[in-house]
Amino acid sequence: MGNFIPNQLLERILAETDIVAVVSSYFPLKKSGRNFKALCPFHEEKTPSFMVNRERQIFKCFGCGKGGNAFHFLMEKERIPFYEAVEMLARKANIALPQKKRGAGQERARERMFAAMSFAVAYFREQLRKPGGEAVRNYLRERGITEQTAEKFHLGFAPDAWDSLLNNASQKFSPSLLEQVGLVLARESSAGHYDRFRNRLMFPIFDPRGRAIGFSGRVLPGGEQADVSPKYINSPESPLFNKSEVLYGLNFSRSEIAKQNKAIVCEGHMDLIAIDQAGFGSAVAAQGTSFTLTQARLLKRYCSEVIFAFDSDSAGQDATLRSFEPLLETELDVRVAVLPATYDPDLLIREKGAEAFGKLLEEALELVDFQYDVLRKKNDEGTLAGRRAIASQMLVTAHKSPSAIIRDAWIQKIAAAVRMPEGVLRAEMRRIRGNYRPFAARGAGPHSAGEVRENFADVDREKNLIGYMLASEKVRSLVTERLSVRDFSDLVCKGLAERIFFLHEHGEKVKAETLLKNVEDGGQAELVSRFMFEEVESNEPLKAAEDLIERVLKQRQSQRKKKLQEQIARAEKEGGDRRSLEAEYDAIQRAQDEWQTKSY
Ligand SMILES: [Zn+2]
Repeated sequence: MGNFIPNQLLERILAETDIVAVVSSYFPLKKSGRNFKALCPFHEEKTPSFMVNRERQIFKCFGCGKGGNAFHFLMEKERIPFYEAVEMLARKANIALPQKKRGAGQERARERMFAAMSFAVAYFREQLRKPGGEAVRNYLRERGITEQTAEKFHLGFAPDAWDSLLNNASQKFSPSLLEQVGLVLARESSAGHYDRFRNRLMFPIFDPRGRAIGFSGRVLPGGEQADVSPKYINSPESPLFNKSEVLYGLNFSRSEIAKQNKAIVCEGHMDLIAIDQAGFGSAVAAQGTSFTLTQARLLKRYCSEVIFAFDSDSAGQDATLRSFEPLLETELDVRVAVLPATYDPDLLIREKGAEAFGKLLEEALELVDFQYDVLRKKNDEGTLAGRRAIASQMLVTAHKSPSAIIRDAWIQKIAAAVRMPEGVLRAEMRRIRGNYRPFAARGAGPHSAGEVRENFADVDREKNLIGYMLASEKVRSLVTERLSVRDFSDLVCKGLAERIFFLHEHGEKVKAETLLKNVEDGGQAELVSRFMFEEVESNEPLKAAEDLIERVLKQRQSQRKKKLQEQIARAEKEGGDRRSLEAEYDAIQRAQDEWQTKSY
């Protein structure tokens, strides 16, 4: 949360805003009972399921699930972060926002870090122009990168010395600051620091706003180090740089991506630069074949379709197929352009030209067709076992999509491809989904495959529990007393639980409307607005919540039991005292037995 805006101010801005007017400035709304409705701007549909409610100042689409207040509508429609949506409406309402502050000291420290990075970018660029940079300039020329392109991407050269950047930067920045952003390293045997990047072609990595946050340094081909050092050295994680959240090139391509509603995704820096130079301005590089959920969400802010341009080596690999998972979960449409063997986008463009590359993009296969192509090469379609293997792997991919429409489209295609009835595939899909926890819910904490299945509850149950907590003070008391925020595994639910716990424990009223006001996350806004349109049945909540809580507690005990088992085994081996461990173990066992008998 970069910019803190006090609650009262958010409320004032919303009070001065009419969501009906905001939405109507984009497309017409039709009155329908207590609501207004329209065709949803966020998904394709023929009959309107997009509702706006003036009394509650919220919108909700019953087709795609999007919902929230006027801030969230602008976030979706303009593809901007929460803070910018607040700014837009504040400006319209003539309300001044406080100057950004993150705690003045902290903000100043970050600004110093950005300044150090931008100093390094300028320094490396300057070295590229000097006589010492000749080898790199020649290399770029050989790779067909023009001077303009090198300028655009701020390419640079880190000289072959241990302290060239350090000496120049230390007049303005302390070595410890330079170390913090990953530009220099502390010596191990003596005092002092040395340059991390030496004798390398430098690619600065920018955040979407165009501020340098990291570097990737490529070893020079033919140089002394070419055989012994890694091809690329990257900046380490720093307060500015989190590799799993960055897409290389997005700062240059984001407006073109939004305009085309489509992004080209390639693997490396060189590919990206070649694609951009060939006139395709909508590319980003994932820096590797796999995608994180954060990267997928970042892209989703700008477009609804991505085309992967991979070389055929990596495209056929299982790891690549799995890497599409977060994109499907984010409901991006995925297509795959497979390059001819031994080509990557850079080489293809150099040898066959931009047009050939453009044609490959146009002919890109939908993910479902691409996966089928990959699998039929590995399995024998002539046998039932081969067709079953193909079908089940494709179903595993398909069920990652939260959209029933997309899952259904996949099932139809799979059925036709492997010649199996759709009904059978649907049943199989249901079985797979029963054992599934979305990518978004994973992450925090280790989970074995077994735990995934018995974990807390599936996401729907967690969501319902949030709904019950919003509806009933009694449920809130019960849940906050017996569970903790950590017990929620789905990130959206966890985020909301955190707020609800906080408010409840501070003796504040928890209402969906008030909660929604400062929700910055689109997923959270969707969930809360859902409960505002659907009334939760009044008797159910407490009973249902008790059920869920019991599940969590049971699971915790199982985990504790496993831990105790390990400790007891260790004590046995090392001759330690096991009495108290065994007593606790027995107590849990007895409680579990009791539950068993109760439930039969
Ligand atoms: Zn919709």
